[in-house]
Amino acid sequence: MSDSKDICPKCSAPLGDITETQTGKKLRRCSTGSWNSETRQAQGCDYVLWIQAEAKQLDEKCPKCGSNLVLQETRFGKKMKKCSAGSWDKEAKKAIGCDFVEWINGNTEALDIDCPECGKKLVLFTTSTGKKMEKCSTAGWDSKERVATGCTYVRWLKPGEVPVSSAGEEFLPQEPA
Ligand SMILES: [Zn+2]
Ligand SMILES: [Zn+2]
Ligand SMILES: [Zn+2]
Repeated sequence: MSDSKDICPKCSAPLGDITETQTGKKLRRCSTGSWNSETRQAQGCDYVLWIQAEAKQLDEKCPKCGSNLVLQETRFGKKMKKCSAGSWDKEAKKAIGCDFVEWINGNTEALDIDCPECGKKLVLFTTSTGKKMEKCSTAGWDSKERVATGCTYVRWLKPGEVPVSSAGEEFLPQEPA
């Protein structure tokens, strides 16, 4: 923690104290900015520094490369296990190193992409081995008949690829500054 982290990079005012959102995420707002809960808009400087939850070392090994896994929370509050040998290249917008990621608590995420076949929204599905695919939100599985129901659109993502709607930020946490 250096002193420069206490200064707003936008307006050079000091940052305020750490506050917590309703969902339990921690942040520091610029002291010249505030949140007007009536208009639901930020007033003044809108800089917000999100406090990165510490990655927690897990007593588990990566199934791909054998490195330790860490438990990490994105700034959207989603938890995942990821390989400590992997990281996110912000410039290239792709994962570097080992790309093993396992989402915890539901591995289907809503995407803001329309299905090319039926026009409904797609969801991102992550398998337990960390492979990702986009599939149609209307797709289902009839466990009695053992047949797929709804729209059958599926597109597997290449390792490290992320769906275009979020350019990675939904899927990997911001690197600590
Ligand atoms: Zn500021
Ligand atoms: Zn790995
Ligand atoms: Zn569809």
